[in-house]
Amino acid sequence: MQTKYDVVIIGSGPGGYVCAIRCAQLGFKTAIIEKYTTLGGTCLNVGCIPSKALLDSSEHYHNAAHNFEKHGINLSSLKVDMKKMIERKNSVVSQTCDGVKFLMDKNKIDVYTGVGSFVDKTHIKVIGADKKETVLETKNTIIATGSKPNFFPGMEPDGKRIITSTEMLNLDEVCKNLIVIGGGVIGLELGSVHARLGAKVDVVEFADSIIPTMDRTLGKELTKVLKKEGFNFHLQHRVQGVKNTGKGVEVTALNAKGEAVVFKGDYCLVAVGRKPYTDGLGLDKIGITLDKRGMIEVDAHLQTSVAGIYAIGDVVRGPMLAHKAEDEGVFVAEVLAGQKPHLDYNLIPGVVYTWPEVAAVGKTEEELTAAGVPFKVGSFPMKALGRARASMDLMGLVKIIAHAETDEVLGVHMIAARAADMIMEAVTAMEFRASAEDMARIVHPHPTFTEAIKEAAMDATGKRAMHI
Ligand code: FAD
Ligand code: NAD
Repeated sequence: MQTKYDVVIIGSGPGGYVCAIRCAQLGFKTAIIEKYTTLGGTCLNVGCIPSKALLDSSEHYHNAAHNFEKHGINLSSLKVDMKKMIERKNSVVSQTCDGVKFLMDKNKIDVYTGVGSFVDKTHIKVIGADKKETVLETKNTIIATGSKPNFFPGMEPDGKRIITSTEMLNLDEVCKNLIVIGGGVIGLELGSVHARLGAKVDVVEFADSIIPTMDRTLGKELTKVLKKEGFNFHLQHRVQGVKNTGKGVEVTALNAKGEAVVFKGDYCLVAVGRKPYTDGLGLDKIGITLDKRGMIEVDAHLQTSVAGIYAIGDVVRGPMLAHKAEDEGVFVAEVLAGQKPHLDYNLIPGVVYTWPEVAAVGKTEEELTAAGVPFKVGSFPMKALGRARASMDLMGLVKIIAHAETDEVLGVHMIAARAADMIMEAVTAMEFRASAEDMARIVHPHPTFTEAIKEAAMDATGKRAMHI
């Protein structure tokens, strides 16, 4: 294999592999280095794809157990085959990872399997599992090494009873009582998988709301939804320690009054965020600087403190999301080609794949209040829609926040069936700086869940929602 490249990318997650494709499309001789034998990074192997596969399977079970009868469909002897559910998830993962390999080959991108590290600014060493070393010479390097689960002292995962999302995605038994530390995205998504399959789920959260960084309305509404599925929430509880007792776990937390509270269960999922991963890259050798959270510091072009070396995705500031990593990958490739790409960080949507789904884009009410921006709010409950009644997806709402004077839409927050897809209407509208009036005047198909967006926009712009 040729070892001289225009671009070498370290890490094959959604940031790295998408960047590689765009580099190849732009005519750069490109190589990608991945330490694992499968491509696709956290997202494809132990993140977005496997979690959504299990969420879909558990949702089918939950509907069969609780909702089919109301639709006039009677089932007998329903049971969960967890091993089969995990096997199907594994097959979805391997097909998706193989797809990335196909794309690398199709775009003539050289793939090196092994750990990549800097020899100097223009040479990257790859050490394979067989300890064989290859040195690649490159004009530009993109660091796309992603992130790993975080934890605090006292809650160190042991991979058996005290686990992270990575082990949880391979657990082939249904938890009886799962204790989740952290009421964020991972805790609520993976907690949902087991709650739907019959587990009692206790979420111990430090903040005074679940999904605390999203608009507060969403946390409140999602709490109601998840309580019906078997979740209990213990808010304002700061976890102090977790113990594996052999057949179970004991989680000790301090409540708001400073009293110690003990939660007992069979497994504990530690889901208190993720940390950037730069171990073994040899960044100190070339003088690349990290911020105090351990993220690689980059400028507006995603270039590090060293010219010709860029960083993207979870390893740099901004939301730790696959689509953010992908778009940063495209952005850097186009910067290298001398183009002037643009990425609006305010318009990166966020989704929580519970059911109903939670989705948001733009500013929250709390952020606008803190910034002193005058705004008005419109909202519409899903239960007032014919489509929602037909499918029995009555929980949730759409909330639209618009500027009080200009009517420009500043934020859209929803909890609704298919919100993950519906949010794109809001992203598109906001990309073109639509007003609430614009959104209210767009013709929406009937009967669809999207009618809630039109109604919420009518409510925001002139308190003229019609079906409530
Ligand atoms: P990663 O995907 O982490 O990839 C980095 C790659 O670099 C890895 O393959 C790693 O092995 C490799 N690597 C690291 N160091 C080296 C080295 N020195 N040499 C060679 N290779 C190296 N995001 C969403 O947008 N939607 C979701 O639904 C979603 N669900 C998630 C569910 C879970 C359970 C988790 C954990 C995460 C989820 N995420 C989701 C977040 C998403 O997975 C990440 O934001 C995304 O994977 C980041 O992409 P990346 O390319 O920056 O890094
Ligand atoms: P998170 O930041 O979403 O949630 C962590 C939660 O843990 C927070 O609510 C925080 O207040 C709480 N917490 C922190 N310390 C605590 C303590 N000592 N005791 C109790 N609670 C404590 O992090 P996550 O859920 O681990 O997810 C990590 C990342 O992965 C997120 O940045 C997310 O963007 C990404 N992810 C995205 C998706 C998606 O897009 N659907 C799915 C999964 C993961």
